[in-house]
Amino acid sequence: MFAEGVFCAEHLLTFPAQKTKGKLEAFGRCVYCGRQKDEHGQPLRLTSEHIIPEFLGAGLELPDASCPTCQKITATFESSIAQDIFDPVRKSFSLVGKDGVLKKTNFPLDIGRETSAHEFIPLIHYPTILVLPMLYPAASYSRRPRDADDPFNFRMFNINADPKALQKYAIDQFSSQAIDMVRFAQMIAKIAHVYAMHHLGYGTFKPLVADFVRTDFPPGIRCKSHFEHVGCLWQAKDAKSPNLHEIEIGKIDWNGQSLNAVRVRLFASCDMPSYYVTVG
Ligand SMILES: [Zn+2]
Repeated sequence: MFAEGVFCAEHLLTFPAQKTKGKLEAFGRCVYCGRQKDEHGQPLRLTSEHIIPEFLGAGLELPDASCPTCQKITATFESSIAQDIFDPVRKSFSLVGKDGVLKKTNFPLDIGRETSAHEFIPLIHYPTILVLPMLYPAASYSRRPRDADDPFNFRMFNINADPKALQKYAIDQFSSQAIDMVRFAQMIAKIAHVYAMHHLGYGTFKPLVADFVRTDFPPGIRCKSHFEHVGCLWQAKDAKSPNLHEIEIGKIDWNGQSLNAVRVRLFASCDMPSYYVTVG
């Protein structure tokens, strides 16, 4: 165990299993860079931001909240994360995204031993396992160990891993897809930041993760600061939950400081971990 801060919850937002559409009050400027106008003084074309990415079956939007430059960057990491770790899960749960339920029917499975070897398996036989990382507590609210830039371990939930189906393809072992940790941390930080901007209001706090979220990191790159503000609290226990996803805003007290923080728990009903983000 490491010394870590304490989260004091203030307001919980839940996302039930079925997608419900909802619109929050228009934000009126980019939540990431703060701009309302472009370099020529013309009003920016602002687009809607989903609080939780739409591909995860969540329909709550913050209108007029992202400029074209920031939108391009966040869309890039979100679509790569969607493909890398969530596609078979989305399909298994029939999550409704922008274009309805995913149309793809075959998914790659790594059945290699020493090197990766992908085989495409139809969903009905695909051993769908939801895998999310357990993280060390973030640097901004703990005395986390040095060189802890990788996840601590992974939490898994078996949706459809049937040994008989695997036998049919003569598969006796497989591994899940690798998770790009920087992009994963960006996705969690984005959810926390956008919700905090809406809930607390622009200008009420000094944003800590906006620049991280709007940085265009190449895939697979190592970044020094991705766990600066994103992590798990090891002493905070997650209760059983009927909700698909949860977001909870509050404060983390650590080292005599009290920072605005957001707890993000994706797939809460599958007993996945909560991530805690210090937003400002
Ligand atoms: Zn922007």
